[in-house]
Amino acid sequence: MTYQAPVEDIAFTLKHAAGMADALAQGLYGDLGEDVIEAVLSEAGRFASDVIAPLNKVGDKHGTPFKDGVVTMPPGWKEAYTAWAASGWNGLAASEKFGGQALPHALNAACTEMWNAASMSFGIGPVLTMGAVEALAAHGSAELKRIFLPKLVSGEWAGSMQLTEPQAGSDVGALRSKAERQSDGSYKITGQKIFITYGEHDLTDNIVHLVLARLPDAPAGTRGISLFLVPKFLVNADGSLGPRNDVRCHSIEHKLGIHGSPTCTMVFGDQGGATGHLIGEENRGLACMFTMMNLARLSVGLQGVAIAERATQAALAYARERKQGGHAIIDYPDVKRMLLTMRAQTRAARAICYATAVAIDRAHRLQGEDVKSAHERASLLTPVAKAFSTDTGVEIASLGIQVHGGMGYVEETGAAQHLRDARIAPIYEGTNGIQAIDLVVRKLPQSGGESVNAYLAELRVIVGNVQAANDPAFGATGERLTKAVDALDRATQWMLANVESNTDAVLAGATPYLRLFGLTAGGCMLADEALAAQRIGDGADPAGRVSLARFFAEHLVVAAAGLERDATEGAESVNTAPGLRD
Ligand SMILES: Cc1cc2nc3c(=O)[nH]c(=O)nc-3n(C[C@H](O)[C@H](O)[C@H](O)COP(=O)(O)OP(=O)(O)OC[C@H]3O[C@@H](n4cnc5c(N)ncnc54)[C@H](O)[C@@H]3O)c2cc1C
Repeated sequence: MTYQAPVEDIAFTLKHAAGMADALAQGLYGDLGEDVIEAVLSEAGRFASDVIAPLNKVGDKHGTPFKDGVVTMPPGWKEAYTAWAASGWNGLAASEKFGGQALPHALNAACTEMWNAASMSFGIGPVLTMGAVEALAAHGSAELKRIFLPKLVSGEWAGSMQLTEPQAGSDVGALRSKAERQSDGSYKITGQKIFITYGEHDLTDNIVHLVLARLPDAPAGTRGISLFLVPKFLVNADGSLGPRNDVRCHSIEHKLGIHGSPTCTMVFGDQGGATGHLIGEENRGLACMFTMMNLARLSVGLQGVAIAERATQAALAYARERKQGGHAIIDYPDVKRMLLTMRAQTRAARAICYATAVAIDRAHRLQGEDVKSAHERASLLTPVAKAFSTDTGVEIASLGIQVHGGMGYVEETGAAQHLRDARIAPIYEGTNGIQAIDLVVRKLPQSGGESVNAYLAELRVIVGNVQAANDPAFGATGERLTKAVDALDRATQWMLANVESNTDAVLAGATPYLRLFGLTAGGCMLADEALAAQRIGDGADPAGRVSLARFFAEHLVVAAAGLERDATEGAESVNTAPGLRD
């Protein structure tokens, strides 16, 4: 079973759960119309399903062989990538000044989901290039932008993001790669990076590495990190390629999944130092890299949605065909429960990710006071989008195997590949544990809690609308969501009150808190989407959407009560547990 992009569902969630319809009506996107959005989505869906999806298994089986410093991508990948870039997909949301189409980030997010559902290993490459574009556009000098951005925007050159070193994973501040100032204004970079996605490959003529390194007189920790642009091939002032830079791929990893995505150890400075160009100011590199990482975090969240969607499609198709006890297994309540969990949780995660992307658009496109609240909304939702959706990817891919029974565990059906591929997403771009800490320590306290409280108030409006609809088809949705929002509200106020004074307790509860946030927000957004479908009527599948929102509220959101207790009362049995260090 291959992938069919669910273009209509994607468009519906984008417009009616994530807020794009309102944004269009308010003129956030100028004169952009729904017709253009729908046309872009269907063309992306066609490309993803027809061109990329058939390469997914090829990438898994073939991997990316490494020999003499060269990484060879799987058969057919270069052709597909070249066609993809030539169609303009890489520059969808990039500035027109550098050859992009300046379309909404939210639309790009929906396309990112489709590329990654078709093949996660294929999709992650452009995620890094687009991140490099964002960081360079926001912080690069005019000269760097002029030389590098047009080719990065078009996808003619690819990007990579290089933070991790053997001793510096979650603790980026421990990195040791060095940068030395040169008399011509450039820098010489030496050091080693590990686990670098698409650090080397043969899809493009040049690769533009964004590398974190430390100057000799830099302060210790995260305040002494600078960001450098280090191209694989040096580039002449006219944009043509010069000699090879002193950076090379030393080896690639053998890993559980995403076999089509090369994960490289990179060595800088074998011959005296790689030439690098500073992005932004010295010692301010982490802030610049965060521009890239925030977008990449949302994109990794979308990978979770993507793999969950693909696993759901495969499980549904299998359950309709497979017969046991004289019935297709889809007729059995336990299988139905699995399939509904898959569909509902996938759609909830999708809604959260798309809403994050719309908030990013608002932050980029609005003016004045509104920018701050939009920016804070995007910051608040980003860790939830990343962690809740990537956990969803793993859970749903695992359920997908369960629906297939033994055929899921053997490689033939492809269900196993989904789980193997999905498993990296909760780890890279900041582990989900780090996302949860970011949420409770940095994001909740934004503007003294005003930002999260405003969000909670919006969730309450949705719940109020469900109650007001007074429609028996919603079952206990209104009541379950009310309890969940109450639980999230109490847990939020507890986190805000304790974050300074009782930090260890807050840290111990961060992961269940993030889950509570994701389930509650996702439940409200599915309900909102169902209400929109009821307003629109025929063609919007109101009965299906109401019943899915009801399933999510009655079967998944009910975990809220336990999660609240775990988040706010569970610290002692974590922090004082004996026997772990012995
Ligand atoms: C396939 C793959 C691709 C990758 N691609 C890239 C890339 O392109 N560029 C790049 O720079 N890196 C990349 N990485 C690295 C990735 O981002 C790191 O693996 C990740 O950030 C975790 O770091 P670590 O592996 O050192 O784990 P560690 O930091 O050692 O973490 C181990 C565990 O401890 C927890 N932990 C660590 N610190 C804390 C803390 N302070 N509080 C609570 N819990 C903590 C973590 O949550 C985790 O569960 C990639 C990794 C892989 C496997």
